[in-house]
Amino acid sequence: MAELVSHPDEVRVVSRRFGQGATNLDRYLELDGYKAVQKALTMQPDAIVNEVKNSGLRGRGGAGFNTGMKWSFVPKQSAKPKYVLCNGDESEPGTCKDRLIFEHDPHAVIEGTVIAGLAVGSHTGYIYIRGEYRYLLEIMQKAIADAYARGFLGKNIFGSGYDFDVYWHGGAGAYEVGEESALMESLEGKRGIPRIRPPFPAVVGLWGGPTVINNAETLASIPHILLGGADWYANLGPPKNGGTRLFCLSGHLKRPGVYELPMGYNLKKMIYDVGGGIPGGRKLKAVVPGGSSTPLMTPDEIDVPMDFDSMMKAGSMLGSGGVVVLDDTTCMVKFALRIMKFYQHESCGWCIPCREGTDWLKKTLIRFHSGGGLKKDIDNILYLSQNMLGRTFCPLGDAAAMPTISIVKKFRQEFEDHLEGQPCAFEKESKIEQLPVLA
Ligand code: SF4
Repeated sequence: MAELVSHPDEVRVVSRRFGQGATNLDRYLELDGYKAVQKALTMQPDAIVNEVKNSGLRGRGGAGFNTGMKWSFVPKQSAKPKYVLCNGDESEPGTCKDRLIFEHDPHAVIEGTVIAGLAVGSHTGYIYIRGEYRYLLEIMQKAIADAYARGFLGKNIFGSGYDFDVYWHGGAGAYEVGEESALMESLEGKRGIPRIRPPFPAVVGLWGGPTVINNAETLASIPHILLGGADWYANLGPPKNGGTRLFCLSGHLKRPGVYELPMGYNLKKMIYDVGGGIPGGRKLKAVVPGGSSTPLMTPDEIDVPMDFDSMMKAGSMLGSGGVVVLDDTTCMVKFALRIMKFYQHESCGWCIPCREGTDWLKKTLIRFHSGGGLKKDIDNILYLSQNMLGRTFCPLGDAAAMPTISIVKKFRQEFEDHLEGQPCAFEKESKIEQLPVLA
């Protein structure tokens, strides 16, 4: 089990049952569990959608789209069955929040999934859990079985006459499957690569039926919204950015961990107050604000509210809530390389800008870091990355390009310091590797 942390500034909504034994169904019921779904069973579907829409809840997986709005795109009438798909394929480096929800509050995910089903007229939900989180499957399996045993799932849930089934599914360990259309392909038993859109999943999704796909934290927030009300939830954060967020603080921090803070919480305060600042008297060099795919920020840029709109205005993104802090011992060329190795490995290879771009960028960055960099390569890295942006079928191409562009632009001097024959100053033992030079 992951160690739990706390801070006085936390506002516990999604995490309020963490450490309370809520994997046990009776304990979950004591802690207001399954009250929200019973309330939802008395509401009209449109009223549930509107409540969620007005709460300002936006997708916690990273895209930040208004959840209620997303639900409203599902057609009311459909010849094919409708589905709810919980995206628990949490794979973005720096992000480790959904695992805590599955570990401590699995029934909240189930409850949120059922409520989403009631809102869109679906009778089937799937909870897709990241392959590397295999140890969580047992927890989820038991939670689902317990809910069935009490009549909270299956036929006639809570004696309401409404049927709803929930299935769990373990992934095989592919980052790409976090993309919603690739997730559906994987769930259908196919190779997890994205689909061309349109049509969008809300209309043509799983097995061709209308499908709502939400991140696990998003769905776990739903029961709290129905019980606390849209206004209460919306007012926890700034306008159009309702609620709280599980922020995963990692890297060079005194108190790393997952903290639940109101949306709009100041990033600088998060690093220095909540995370305790940089250990060992070192200085802050850069921050990854929302998972490895988001543009990095420098120390003079971090006095910003952490919400979707403010972060966009600040030139980065709130992303998946993974805040990675880097101190002044970090080689930014190596960091760019580390990120690129990940994306190159995870690229499904379907589109050329992503497949070739990540490969060339990785090779160039390896050579750079080992002291074989050429001056023209600095602009080539930028050129390659910028040409990946918006030119791929799924966001993985952008995810690889965006942090790279920000690192080259903001830390260009470090690339110059690695030019021909100059091994990395942070790692004296680096050696020049003979790798292809970009034309
Ligand atoms: Fe595959 Fe990359 Fe294209 Fe996404 S961007 S479809 S991961 S090749």
